Amino acid sequence: MTEQGAQKLTYGINTVILCMVLGLMLFFKIIEIPFLFYYSIPTAGVYLFGYYLISQKKLDIYVWMVYLWLTTYMGITTVCVGHDFGFHLYCMSMIPVMFVTEYISYKLEHKSLKAMPVCVGVVIFYLICTGYVLYNGPVYVRDNAIAGVFWFSNSLIVFGFLIFYTNWLIRTIVASEDRLTQMAHIDKLTGLYNRHYMMELLEKLTSDADGSVLAIADIDFFKKINDTYGHNAGDYVLQRMAELLKEAGKDAYVCRWGGEEFLILLSGHLVKDDIFEEIRKKVGRSEFSFEGREIHVTITIGVAYRKKDETIDRWIQRADEKLYYGKEHGRNQVAE
Ligand code: GH3
Ligand code: MG
Ligand code: MG
Repeated sequence: MTEQGAQKLTYGINTVILCMVLGLMLFFKIIEIPFLFYYSIPTAGVYLFGYYLISQKKLDIYVWMVYLWLTTYMGITTVCVGHDFGFHLYCMSMIPVMFVTEYISYKLEHKSLKAMPVCVGVVIFYLICTGYVLYNGPVYVRDNAIAGVFWFSNSLIVFGFLIFYTNWLIRTIVASEDRLTQMAHIDKLTGLYNRHYMMELLEKLTSDADGSVLAIADIDFFKKINDTYGHNAGDYVLQRMAELLKEAGKDAYVCRWGGEEFLILLSGHLVKDDIFEEIRKKVGRSEFSFEGREIHVTITIGVAYRKKDETIDRWIQRADEKLYYGKEHGRNQVAE
Protein backbone atom coordinates (compact mmCIF):
# COMPACT_ATOMS: atom_id res chain seq x y z
CA MET A 1 0.00 0.00 0.00
CA THR A 2 1.24 3.49 -0.84
CA GLU A 3 1.43 6.34 1.65
CA GLN A 4 -1.44 8.07 -0.17
CA GLY A 5 -3.54 4.92 -0.03
CA ALA A 6 -2.91 4.57 3.72
CA GLN A 7 -3.84 8.24 4.21
CA LYS A 8 -7.10 7.86 2.26
CA LEU A 9 -8.04 4.73 4.19
CA THR A 10 -7.32 6.46 7.51
CA TYR A 11 -9.52 9.44 6.55
CA GLY A 12 -12.35 6.97 5.88
CA ILE A 13 -11.87 5.12 9.17
CA ASN A 14 -11.70 8.40 11.11
CA THR A 15 -14.96 9.62 9.56
CA VAL A 16 -16.76 6.36 10.39
CA ILE A 17 -15.58 6.48 14.02
CA LEU A 18 -16.51 10.17 14.36
CA CYS A 19 -20.04 9.49 13.06
CA MET A 20 -20.39 6.66 15.57
CA VAL A 21 -19.23 8.90 18.43
CA LEU A 22 -21.74 11.62 17.47
CA GLY A 23 -24.53 9.04 17.21
CA LEU A 24 -23.66 7.65 20.64
CA MET A 25 -23.49 11.15 22.08
CA LEU A 26 -27.08 11.71 21.00
CA PHE A 27 -28.08 8.34 22.41
CA PHE A 28 -26.48 9.07 25.82
CA LYS A 29 -28.42 12.33 25.90
CA ILE A 30 -31.67 10.45 25.20
CA ILE A 31 -31.13 7.77 27.84
CA GLU A 32 -29.89 10.42 30.28
CA ILE A 33 -26.35 9.43 31.10
CA PRO A 34 -24.79 12.90 31.39
CA PHE A 35 -21.30 11.63 32.18
CA LEU A 36 -21.09 9.70 28.87
CA PHE A 37 -22.71 12.59 26.99
CA TYR A 38 -20.06 15.03 28.19
CA TYR A 39 -17.28 12.48 27.78
CA SER A 40 -18.32 12.23 24.10
CA ILE A 41 -17.39 15.90 23.57
CA PRO A 42 -13.60 15.48 24.05
CA THR A 43 -13.93 12.16 22.21
CA ALA A 44 -15.35 13.92 19.14
CA GLY A 45 -12.58 16.52 19.56
CA VAL A 46 -9.98 13.75 19.43
CA TYR A 47 -11.29 12.56 16.06
CA LEU A 48 -11.54 16.10 14.69
CA PHE A 49 -7.90 16.54 15.69
CA GLY A 50 -7.36 13.18 13.94
CA TYR A 51 -8.13 14.85 10.59
CA TYR A 52 -5.31 17.30 11.23
CA LEU A 53 -2.85 14.50 12.08
CA ILE A 54 -3.85 12.56 8.96
CA SER A 55 -3.45 15.64 6.75
CA GLN A 56 0.04 16.10 8.24
CA LYS A 57 0.76 12.42 7.43
CA LYS A 58 1.40 11.72 11.13
CA LEU A 59 -0.40 8.41 10.84
CA ASP A 60 1.59 6.72 13.59
CA ILE A 61 0.65 9.39 16.17
CA TYR A 62 -2.97 9.23 14.94
CA VAL A 63 -3.09 5.47 15.36
CA TRP A 64 -1.66 5.63 18.90
CA MET A 65 -4.18 8.28 19.83
CA VAL A 66 -7.09 6.28 18.44
CA TYR A 67 -5.96 3.05 20.13
CA LEU A 68 -5.78 4.72 23.51
CA TRP A 69 -8.92 6.79 23.23
CA LEU A 70 -11.19 4.21 21.64
CA THR A 71 -10.18 1.52 24.11
CA THR A 72 -10.65 3.85 27.07
CA TYR A 73 -13.96 5.07 25.66
CA MET A 74 -15.30 1.55 25.20
CA GLY A 75 -14.02 0.52 28.66
CA ILE A 76 -15.64 3.49 30.42
CA THR A 77 -18.89 2.96 28.50
CA THR A 78 -18.93 -0.69 29.56
CA VAL A 79 -18.41 0.26 33.22
CA CYS A 80 -21.23 2.81 32.93
CA VAL A 81 -23.90 0.76 31.13
CA GLY A 82 -22.72 -2.89 31.47
CA HIS A 83 -21.84 -5.75 29.11
CA ASP A 84 -25.36 -6.03 27.81
CA PHE A 85 -24.75 -3.13 25.44
CA GLY A 86 -21.83 -4.92 23.76
CA PHE A 87 -19.41 -1.94 23.79
CA HIS A 88 -16.61 -4.14 25.13
CA LEU A 89 -16.61 -6.05 21.80
CA TYR A 90 -14.86 -3.11 20.14
CA CYS A 91 -11.65 -4.01 22.02
CA MET A 92 -11.45 -7.15 19.88
CA SER A 93 -11.78 -5.27 16.61
CA MET A 94 -8.67 -3.26 17.47
CA ILE A 95 -6.34 -6.27 17.53
CA PRO A 96 -5.96 -6.92 13.76
CA VAL A 97 -5.94 -3.16 13.10
CA MET A 98 -2.99 -2.72 15.46
CA PHE A 99 -0.91 -5.44 13.80
CA VAL A 100 -1.72 -4.24 10.27
CA THR A 101 -0.94 -0.65 11.19
CA GLU A 102 2.35 -1.76 12.66
CA TYR A 103 3.12 -3.53 9.39
CA ILE A 104 2.11 -0.56 7.19
CA SER A 105 4.04 1.82 9.39
CA TYR A 106 7.11 -0.39 9.20
CA LYS A 107 6.81 -0.60 5.40
CA LEU A 108 6.40 3.14 4.94
CA GLU A 109 8.75 4.53 7.53
CA HIS A 110 10.53 1.55 9.08
CA LYS A 111 8.95 2.41 12.40
CA SER A 112 7.52 -0.13 14.78
CA LEU A 113 4.35 0.59 16.75
CA LYS A 114 4.87 -2.38 19.06
CA ALA A 115 1.44 -3.88 18.48
CA MET A 116 2.09 -6.81 20.84
CA PRO A 117 2.46 -4.80 24.10
CA VAL A 118 -0.42 -2.53 23.06
CA CYS A 119 -2.68 -5.56 22.52
CA VAL A 120 -1.68 -7.00 25.90
CA GLY A 121 -2.55 -3.61 27.44
CA VAL A 122 -5.95 -3.64 25.70
CA VAL A 123 -6.69 -7.15 26.99
CA ILE A 124 -5.78 -6.16 30.58
CA PHE A 125 -7.96 -3.06 30.35
CA TYR A 126 -10.82 -5.16 28.90
CA LEU A 127 -10.54 -7.63 31.79
CA ILE A 128 -10.56 -4.85 34.38
CA CYS A 129 -13.64 -3.11 32.90
CA THR A 130 -15.69 -6.23 32.21
CA GLY A 131 -14.57 -7.75 35.56
CA TYR A 132 -15.68 -4.63 37.40
CA VAL A 133 -19.14 -4.79 35.80
CA LEU A 134 -19.38 -8.53 36.49
CA TYR A 135 -18.86 -8.04 40.24
CA ASN A 136 -20.39 -4.59 40.85
CA GLY A 137 -22.92 -4.23 38.08
CA PRO A 138 -23.06 -1.14 35.81
CA VAL A 139 -23.01 2.36 37.25
CA TYR A 140 -26.22 3.28 35.36
CA VAL A 141 -28.89 0.62 35.02
CA ARG A 142 -30.98 1.17 31.90
CA ASP A 143 -33.82 -0.46 30.01
CA ASN A 144 -33.01 -4.00 28.84
CA ALA A 145 -34.79 -3.53 25.52
CA ILE A 146 -32.43 -0.69 24.58
CA ALA A 147 -29.47 -2.84 25.68
CA GLY A 148 -30.66 -5.59 23.31
CA VAL A 149 -30.70 -3.25 20.33
CA PHE A 150 -27.17 -2.07 21.17
CA TRP A 151 -25.86 -5.55 21.82
CA PHE A 152 -27.23 -6.61 18.41
CA SER A 153 -25.97 -3.64 16.39
CA ASN A 154 -22.57 -3.46 18.15
CA SER A 155 -22.05 -7.19 17.59
CA LEU A 156 -22.94 -6.80 13.90
CA ILE A 157 -20.57 -3.83 13.50
CA VAL A 158 -17.64 -5.58 15.22
CA PHE A 159 -18.06 -8.93 13.42
CA GLY A 160 -18.83 -7.21 10.11
CA PHE A 161 -15.72 -5.09 10.50
CA LEU A 162 -13.56 -8.10 11.38
CA ILE A 163 -14.86 -10.09 8.40
CA PHE A 164 -14.49 -7.28 5.84
CA TYR A 165 -11.17 -6.12 7.23
CA THR A 166 -9.65 -9.61 7.20
CA ASN A 167 -11.04 -10.24 3.73
CA TRP A 168 -9.57 -6.96 2.42
CA LEU A 169 -6.28 -7.79 4.11
CA ILE A 170 -5.98 -11.23 2.53
CA ARG A 171 -6.90 -9.89 -0.91
CA THR A 172 -4.30 -7.14 -0.58
CA ILE A 173 -1.65 -9.68 0.41
CA VAL A 174 -2.53 -11.98 -2.53
CA ALA A 175 -2.47 -9.07 -5.02
CA SER A 176 0.84 -7.88 -3.65
CA GLU A 177 2.34 -11.39 -3.85
CA ASP A 178 1.13 -11.72 -7.46
CA ARG A 179 2.79 -8.42 -8.31
CA LEU A 180 6.05 -9.49 -6.68
CA THR A 181 6.01 -12.84 -8.47
CA GLN A 182 5.41 -11.04 -11.76
CA MET A 183 8.28 -8.66 -11.03
CA ALA A 184 10.56 -11.55 -10.14
CA HIS A 185 9.83 -13.26 -13.48
CA ILE A 186 9.97 -10.33 -15.86
CA ASP A 187 12.86 -8.30 -17.22
CA LYS A 188 12.05 -4.65 -16.59
CA LEU A 189 13.50 -3.17 -19.77
CA THR A 190 12.02 -5.55 -22.33
CA GLY A 191 9.03 -7.07 -20.53
CA LEU A 192 10.29 -10.54 -21.48
CA TYR A 193 10.82 -13.37 -19.01
CA ASN A 194 14.14 -13.02 -17.24
CA ARG A 195 16.94 -15.59 -17.10
CA HIS A 196 16.01 -16.75 -13.60
CA TYR A 197 12.43 -17.60 -14.62
CA MET A 198 13.56 -19.20 -17.89
CA MET A 199 15.82 -21.53 -15.91
CA GLU A 200 12.80 -22.50 -13.80
CA LEU A 201 10.79 -23.23 -16.96
CA LEU A 202 13.62 -25.27 -18.43
CA GLU A 203 14.04 -27.27 -15.22
CA LYS A 204 10.32 -28.12 -15.36
CA LEU A 205 10.69 -29.64 -18.82
CA THR A 206 10.59 -33.40 -18.61
CA SER A 207 11.99 -35.96 -21.02
CA ASP A 208 8.96 -35.38 -23.27
CA ALA A 209 10.80 -32.22 -24.26
CA ASP A 210 12.62 -34.36 -26.84
CA GLY A 211 12.57 -32.53 -30.15
CA SER A 212 12.25 -29.17 -28.41
CA VAL A 213 14.64 -26.54 -29.59
CA LEU A 214 16.51 -23.85 -27.81
CA ALA A 215 18.12 -20.89 -29.52
CA ILE A 216 20.28 -18.06 -28.26
CA ALA A 217 20.04 -14.88 -30.36
CA ASP A 218 22.75 -12.27 -29.84
CA ILE A 219 22.77 -8.81 -31.41
CA ASP A 220 25.84 -8.26 -33.56
CA PHE A 221 28.21 -5.45 -32.61
CA PHE A 222 25.76 -4.12 -30.05
CA LYS A 223 28.51 -2.28 -28.23
CA LYS A 224 29.02 -0.23 -31.38
CA ILE A 225 25.33 0.77 -31.34
CA ASN A 226 25.73 2.05 -27.79
CA ASP A 227 28.95 3.84 -28.69
CA THR A 228 27.53 5.41 -31.87
CA TYR A 229 23.95 6.28 -30.89
CA GLY A 230 24.10 6.32 -27.10
CA HIS A 231 22.95 3.99 -24.32
CA ASN A 232 19.29 5.06 -24.64
CA ALA A 233 19.31 4.07 -28.29
CA GLY A 234 20.79 0.71 -27.20
CA ASP A 235 17.94 0.27 -24.72
CA TYR A 236 15.42 1.15 -27.41
CA VAL A 237 16.92 -1.45 -29.78
CA LEU A 238 16.67 -4.07 -27.02
CA GLN A 239 12.98 -3.25 -26.50
CA ARG A 240 12.18 -3.38 -30.22
CA MET A 241 14.16 -6.60 -30.56
CA ALA A 242 12.12 -8.12 -27.74
CA GLU A 243 8.90 -7.20 -29.57
CA LEU A 244 10.18 -8.67 -32.83
CA LEU A 245 11.22 -11.94 -31.22
CA LYS A 246 7.93 -12.27 -29.38
CA GLU A 247 5.99 -11.65 -32.59
CA ALA A 248 8.08 -14.12 -34.54
CA GLY A 249 7.88 -16.87 -31.95
CA LYS A 250 4.27 -16.40 -30.79
CA ASP A 251 4.05 -19.78 -29.11
CA ALA A 252 7.64 -19.79 -27.93
CA TYR A 253 9.05 -18.84 -24.57
CA VAL A 254 11.28 -15.85 -25.18
CA CYS A 255 13.52 -14.50 -22.45
CA ARG A 256 16.21 -11.89 -22.06
CA TRP A 257 19.11 -14.16 -21.29
CA GLY A 258 21.70 -11.47 -20.71
CA GLY A 259 22.64 -7.95 -21.88
CA GLU A 260 21.89 -8.25 -25.63
CA GLU A 261 21.23 -11.97 -25.71
CA PHE A 262 17.81 -13.58 -25.97
CA LEU A 263 16.87 -17.19 -25.41
CA ILE A 264 14.02 -18.73 -27.40
CA LEU A 265 12.51 -22.06 -26.40
CA LEU A 266 10.15 -23.93 -28.72
CA SER A 267 8.35 -27.14 -27.80
CA GLY A 268 8.78 -30.08 -30.16
CA HIS A 269 5.38 -29.81 -31.91
CA LEU A 270 5.86 -26.09 -32.56
CA VAL A 271 9.21 -26.32 -34.28
CA LYS A 272 8.92 -25.23 -37.93
CA ASP A 273 11.64 -25.50 -40.54
CA ASP A 274 13.58 -22.29 -40.96
CA ILE A 275 11.84 -20.47 -38.13
CA PHE A 276 15.15 -19.04 -36.87
CA GLU A 277 16.28 -18.12 -40.38
CA GLU A 278 12.99 -16.22 -40.76
CA ILE A 279 13.59 -14.40 -37.48
CA ARG A 280 17.13 -13.49 -38.50
CA LYS A 281 15.95 -12.13 -41.88
CA LYS A 282 13.11 -10.21 -40.24
CA VAL A 283 15.51 -8.50 -37.85
CA GLY A 284 17.92 -7.72 -40.73
CA ARG A 285 15.07 -6.11 -42.73
CA SER A 286 13.76 -4.01 -39.83
CA GLU A 287 14.71 -0.40 -39.34
CA PHE A 288 15.00 0.76 -35.74
CA SER A 289 14.26 4.45 -35.76
CA PHE A 290 15.47 6.31 -32.68
CA GLU A 291 15.25 10.11 -32.39
CA GLY A 292 15.19 10.46 -36.14
CA ARG A 293 18.14 8.15 -36.77
CA GLU A 294 17.80 4.78 -38.44
CA ILE A 295 19.69 1.98 -36.74
CA HIS A 296 20.37 -1.20 -38.63
CA VAL A 297 20.75 -4.36 -36.60
CA THR A 298 21.63 -7.98 -37.32
CA ILE A 299 21.62 -11.01 -35.06
CA THR A 300 23.46 -14.29 -34.85
CA ILE A 301 21.52 -17.30 -33.58
CA GLY A 302 22.91 -20.50 -32.07
CA VAL A 303 20.43 -23.39 -32.20
CA ALA A 304 20.45 -26.71 -30.32
CA TYR A 305 17.80 -29.45 -30.53
CA ARG A 306 17.19 -31.32 -27.29
CA LYS A 307 18.93 -34.65 -27.09
CA LYS A 308 17.57 -37.53 -25.08
CA ASP A 309 18.75 -37.59 -21.44
CA GLU A 310 20.74 -34.39 -21.91
CA THR A 311 21.02 -32.03 -18.95
CA ILE A 312 19.58 -28.53 -19.30
CA ASP A 313 23.02 -27.01 -18.73
CA ARG A 314 24.53 -29.08 -21.50
CA TRP A 315 21.67 -28.18 -23.85
CA ILE A 316 22.21 -24.45 -23.23
CA GLN A 317 25.95 -24.91 -23.59
CA ARG A 318 25.49 -26.47 -27.03
CA ALA A 319 23.34 -23.52 -28.19
CA ASP A 320 26.02 -21.19 -26.84
CA GLU A 321 28.75 -23.06 -28.70
CA LYS A 322 26.74 -22.74 -31.92
CA LEU A 323 26.31 -19.03 -31.29
CA TYR A 324 30.05 -18.68 -30.77
CA TYR A 325 30.61 -20.56 -34.02
CA GLY A 326 28.26 -18.17 -35.88
CA LYS A 327 30.06 -15.16 -34.41
CA GLU A 328 33.42 -16.57 -35.46
CA HIS A 329 32.18 -17.24 -38.99
CA GLY A 330 30.87 -13.86 -40.06
CA ARG A 331 27.86 -13.16 -37.75
CA ASN A 332 24.31 -12.41 -39.09
CA GLN A 333 23.58 -16.12 -39.47
CA VAL A 334 21.87 -19.12 -37.88
CA ALA A 335 24.26 -21.81 -36.66
CA GLU A 336 22.71 -25.26 -36.06
P1 GH3 B 1 29.20 -9.39 -30.73
O1 GH3 B 1 28.77 -9.17 -32.13
O2 GH3 B 1 30.43 -10.20 -30.63
O3 GH3 B 1 28.10 -9.94 -29.90
O4 GH3 B 1 29.61 -7.96 -30.17
P2 GH3 B 1 28.80 -7.08 -29.16
O5 GH3 B 1 29.33 -5.68 -29.23
O6 GH3 B 1 27.33 -7.23 -29.41
O7 GH3 B 1 29.09 -7.79 -27.79
P3 GH3 B 1 29.83 -7.31 -26.51
O8 GH3 B 1 29.68 -8.44 -25.53
O9 GH3 B 1 31.23 -6.84 -26.80
O10 GH3 B 1 29.02 -6.08 -26.00
C1 GH3 B 1 27.74 -6.18 -25.50
C2 GH3 B 1 27.32 -4.79 -25.06
O11 GH3 B 1 25.96 -4.79 -24.61
C3 GH3 B 1 28.14 -4.26 -23.91
C4 GH3 B 1 27.13 -3.68 -22.94
O12 GH3 B 1 27.45 -2.37 -22.60
C5 GH3 B 1 25.84 -3.68 -23.75
N1 GH3 B 1 24.69 -3.87 -22.89
C6 GH3 B 1 24.41 -4.88 -22.04
N2 GH3 B 1 23.23 -4.70 -21.43
C7 GH3 B 1 22.73 -3.52 -21.93
C8 GH3 B 1 21.54 -2.78 -21.68
O13 GH3 B 1 20.66 -3.16 -20.89
N3 GH3 B 1 21.37 -1.62 -22.36
C9 GH3 B 1 22.30 -1.16 -23.25
N4 GH3 B 1 22.07 -0.03 -23.89
N5 GH3 B 1 23.44 -1.82 -23.48
C10 GH3 B 1 23.65 -2.98 -22.84
MG1 MG C 1 26.41 -9.11 -29.27
MG1 MG D 1 26.63 -11.11 -26.10
